Amino acid sequence: MRKSGFICSPALWAHGHGDAHPMRSERLEMTYQLLQAYGAFDREGSDLIAPTPASEDELALWHTRDYIAAVRRLSEGDTSTPAWRYNLGPGDNPVFPGMYDSEALKAGATLQAARLVAAGECGVAFSFAGGLHHAMAGHASGFCVFNDAAITIRWLAERGLRVLYVDIDAHHGDGVQAAFYGSDRVLTISLHESGRYLFPGTGFMNELGEGAGRGYSVNVPLLPYTDDAAYLSAFDQVVPPLAAQFAPDLLVTQLGIDTHYQDPLTHLALTTHGYAALVRAFHDMGLPWVALGGGGYNVHTVARAWTLAYGIMSEQEFPDEIPASYAQRYGDRRLHDRGGPRLDPRDAARARAHAERQVAALQEALGF
Ligand SMILES: [Zn+2]
Repeated sequence: MRKSGFICSPALWAHGHGDAHPMRSERLEMTYQLLQAYGAFDREGSDLIAPTPASEDELALWHTRDYIAAVRRLSEGDTSTPAWRYNLGPGDNPVFPGMYDSEALKAGATLQAARLVAAGECGVAFSFAGGLHHAMAGHASGFCVFNDAAITIRWLAERGLRVLYVDIDAHHGDGVQAAFYGSDRVLTISLHESGRYLFPGTGFMNELGEGAGRGYSVNVPLLPYTDDAAYLSAFDQVVPPLAAQFAPDLLVTQLGIDTHYQDPLTHLALTTHGYAALVRAFHDMGLPWVALGGGGYNVHTVARAWTLAYGIMSEQEFPDEIPASYAQRYGDRRLHDRGGPRLDPRDAARARAHAERQVAALQEALGF
């Protein structure tokens, strides 16, 4: 049985983007509460691990010193720093008190997960507050201040490890792709709703990497209403064969659950059953595994899906009936979805055909 770690501290949700923002801190708190209700950390070999904040030098593995300093100043209430220059301010990426500490802690949590996995102390570690895949070197983007995934993969690559990064968030993992676009030591694969319909507007099939990195950036853009079957079929045809070819030392996954049919911000149509099948596929790769959270804006779905995910990682079977302590407080009774999306069959068929065309085009371009 492999050891698993869950990187968590209440400090991760002590500061947030504010109640009107989709990135609500309840996402993290409810996930933790649900896992605790199941006794997820009571078992030998399933550990709750407190993170330490990333240092400035660690943040600088991906971010510019100028940006790091600006985030610190803005977080402390400095008004002479022009927030807009760093894409911070009212809207997607608000400045909030405690921002620097809170976001450096999220990056530190993912580094902590990587340290444990790289040292062999955990077979898998879940940094559920991480997966902030949009943040760019010199600016914030898409609710993300520091890109814990890019920082941590740099850290792993510096130790000579070949890293496979797979991103199943509904949005394109553009920041991580940008960090490794010229590298053949990191293979990034992102499946997401097409940039034609959704932020950040990138992640098309022809973004394949450049120079030595050509062929090491892989994108599967999907249409709205892509369901479990169409998504899983595309995933199975792309991820395992490319992973086998690349022969990674370590797996990093971004496990955003904004692909869910009830997500308020996106248009994909997955259920918790499809999501769990994806997490199981990662588990079954048998690689040392750093798992990250990501998007997901229905707080009830986020808590259920990440609890399912951690159950698979730590090889624990949680009963579908949610423990009464949590059910009474939050109103959720079942871990898995009971229903599913009601799709127009024509939309579903169009989405499936599109996914198959994307897969075929990738197979042609990359020869697998
Ligand atoms: Zn997302």
